[in-house]
Amino acid sequence: MAASAAARTIIENCAIATVDANDTEYASGYVVVAGNRIESVGAGKAPDGLDNVVRRIDGTGHLVTPGLVNTHHHFYQWLTRGMATDHNLFNWLVALYPTWARIDEPMVKVAAQGSLAMMARGGVTTAMDHHYVFPKGSGDLSGAVIGAASDMGVRFTLARGSMDRSEKDGGLPPDFAVETLEGALAATEETVRKHHDASFDAMTQVAVAPCSPFSVSTELMKQGAQLARRLGVRLHTHGSETVEEEQFCKELFGMGPTDYFESTGWLGSDVWMAHCVHMNDSNIAAFARTGTGVAHCPSSNARLAAGIARVPDMLKAGVPVGLGVDGTASNESGELHTELRNALLINRLGAHREAALNARQALRLGTYGGAQVLGRADQIGSLEAGKLADLVMWKVDGLGHSTIADPVTAIVFGAAAPVTLSLVNGKPVVEDNHLVTADEDAIARDARAEAQRLARIVAQG
Ligand SMILES: [Zn+2]
Repeated sequence: MAASAAARTIIENCAIATVDANDTEYASGYVVVAGNRIESVGAGKAPDGLDNVVRRIDGTGHLVTPGLVNTHHHFYQWLTRGMATDHNLFNWLVALYPTWARIDEPMVKVAAQGSLAMMARGGVTTAMDHHYVFPKGSGDLSGAVIGAASDMGVRFTLARGSMDRSEKDGGLPPDFAVETLEGALAATEETVRKHHDASFDAMTQVAVAPCSPFSVSTELMKQGAQLARRLGVRLHTHGSETVEEEQFCKELFGMGPTDYFESTGWLGSDVWMAHCVHMNDSNIAAFARTGTGVAHCPSSNARLAAGIARVPDMLKAGVPVGLGVDGTASNESGELHTELRNALLINRLGAHREAALNARQALRLGTYGGAQVLGRADQIGSLEAGKLADLVMWKVDGLGHSTIADPVTAIVFGAAAPVTLSLVNGKPVVEDNHLVTADEDAIARDARAEAQRLARIVAQG
């Protein structure tokens, strides 16, 4: 008996921005999904005679784009939103470390569900979590986060973080919030071996991700890079976020962050770094030369008064750049689609003014750029035949958008557009602006209860 063809879903009569290499767009076109892959994309009506069509969707009034790809986040912070709201990075960290050091597995699980739900209902199809707080006896935090993403049906990268430079070693976190060098490396390797999937259509990947120069020893940076390369996975960390970090690096290491990263093996095409706000021309050239990627987090950078990353200069130099929500303790919205708008607006306040970024560049940062920095540009990030079926149908004929003629301008410059449908790996995650893989109200209720439990534990000391 011949194998039956994969089930097909057809979306037609919609505007399409493919975000392929030529920025191909269709004013009215179709997407055919077969199984978990995009089978074809084009102008006009879908081809006749396709068999095994299980669903045919009229996309009138919609723009279809690749699903959004988030490249930097800290899920556990879902329970500590709205705190230390008028602080810079270092003061904010010092204010929050004692609370973060009390997290446990049930808290992290529901925080991951909240973070994932908020992003998914706004068009994110690939999420990531940089988790670096592992209090002793707190349970299987990596497993909790990976399970939450898997249950919600969202493609996911866990950046297994770590901290081993506490106050006693000149670092920023308190002594009780860090792991040992050996413990962090062993736990990271175990997480990669247990959860990382290197296949084309992987739903879960793991990266090696010591937290930052001011919370991690030089030895952990060096051995972390060696571990990642031995295991064949990517490397992620925070870098060049604030002027205070630059001063810290110069005082402790005798060089700025980018030179420090290079000296520890942390520049390369398998590395992506969050923020990269304080970069001079030679730092940007070093990122371009080595293929090091950047997770641009405009709202978090504004919230913590960190500065404006030089995204137009990075793109001009050929640096891969994606977008990041960052943790929701420094970006309470927790949404990525608004970061397209914020990336565009904030960069126009920089040196390049109105020429800094346009709507299509902003959409590319949030889709293909994100896929590039996660090392998955062959699989996701654009709508092309053969790639994985991760896509979003944005409603652009409603109150928020109907008078903006160009649909890409509508979703980038306008209000956050409702998501009529999102597919991840060919399966619906959002329908009619609601999650279909999780109960938003239950998550909101459970997350509030866990946030209150965390606050009680901290208050009891
Ligand atoms: Zn961060």
